[in-house]
Amino acid sequence: MGWHTWAVRRVVGPLLGVPVLLLVILAGLTLVLDWAGPPGDAPATSATTSATAAPASSSPIPAAPAPDSPLDALVRQLQGFVERERGLRFKTPVKATVLDDAAFRAKVTATDDEDRKEIEKAQAILRAMGLLGREVDLVKAVQDFAGAGIAGIYDPETDELVVRGGELTASVRVTLAHELTHALEDQHFNLDRKDLGDEADYGFSALVEGSALRVEDAYLRSLSADERARARSEESVQAGKIPDNVPPVVTLAFGFPYAYGPGVVSALLKAGGNARLDAAYAKPPASTEQAIDPRRYLDDDQPRSVPLPPAGGAAFDDGEIGQLFLFLMLRSELSDDAARDGADGWGGDRYVAWRDGERTCVRMDFVMDNPSENDELVRALRDWAGKRRGAAKAAGTSLTTCG
Ligand SMILES: [Zn+2]
Repeated sequence: MGWHTWAVRRVVGPLLGVPVLLLVILAGLTLVLDWAGPPGDAPATSATTSATAAPASSSPIPAAPAPDSPLDALVRQLQGFVERERGLRFKTPVKATVLDDAAFRAKVTATDDEDRKEIEKAQAILRAMGLLGREVDLVKAVQDFAGAGIAGIYDPETDELVVRGGELTASVRVTLAHELTHALEDQHFNLDRKDLGDEADYGFSALVEGSALRVEDAYLRSLSADERARARSEESVQAGKIPDNVPPVVTLAFGFPYAYGPGVVSALLKAGGNARLDAAYAKPPASTEQAIDPRRYLDDDQPRSVPLPPAGGAAFDDGEIGQLFLFLMLRSELSDDAARDGADGWGGDRYVAWRDGERTCVRMDFVMDNPSENDELVRALRDWAGKRRGAAKAAGTSLTTCG
């Protein structure tokens, strides 16, 4: 299992298409980030959920029917909205919890030893790829980001749905609509998918988030102008709490499915409405490439499998880099255009990572879609390695980099 299946797998990408939109989109995104989708990113279930649950939301089923709490009534109303928008019915009612800021933060930043180990692996690999400085503590950066940037979670393994709030404000309602879409789709298509592999995992996340964002957006549009403005302003206040020193690669990794998912979903809806979207859960996007360019998904341009490259020491990790991270790596030393040209036409890859004393080394082998894309990648890898002053060596479409 590769490195971006750690707790933070969600990344970015409007850089690949329309760079100017990146900040705008991500500012909006930070509030809908959640942990829905395949497991591995479900927050550790340590005991942080006690005290601050919303009123009556956690009462056991009593002998006589209890009156609805405001949250229960809201959830029922939102379920109706989500069903109509998504064209599916809930099979069982969903139980939602709203936690105040401190309790929610504690929940999403809980990091057990296994999470920590995975994130430390990712940290070593990202350093070798030139995407993280030596001074960055990735565990802390992820906690900083998640602690402020996540608005709600839906865990498809436990069906737990939790939203940050305390009161049922406009932005809490918008987030509930998003998370309820995950719950609805989980009841129909099972979102709890394990061991998809790095690239397939990102592709699936893009589908899942794109679909939830579509319903969330419809809900937002159904609000009055005042409420809509209030939801947006609550979101930007919250987004402003994300510390400035969170490294861009963390935001990009978290943001990717939210940035590219909507394109995937609108391509599916255009091709055949909700029925085509439903069918996509049986064969979701298989890569970041397919999410970046949904035509490749609809045309079934499948990634090719690449043999594991040889390691120069005892390997501690292997997996796939993908078009997104290839682009980000190239962009760490080259212009946006050169990085995009190099990463475009990605056909498949495999990497292996090992320790070399204090350093980590990563070797990656790529295949491209055609000879001219191949030439562009060869050139980009050579230029990138040249700027790494001896820490990297390119040989055709193979790259070894240490750091
Ligand atoms: Zn989501």
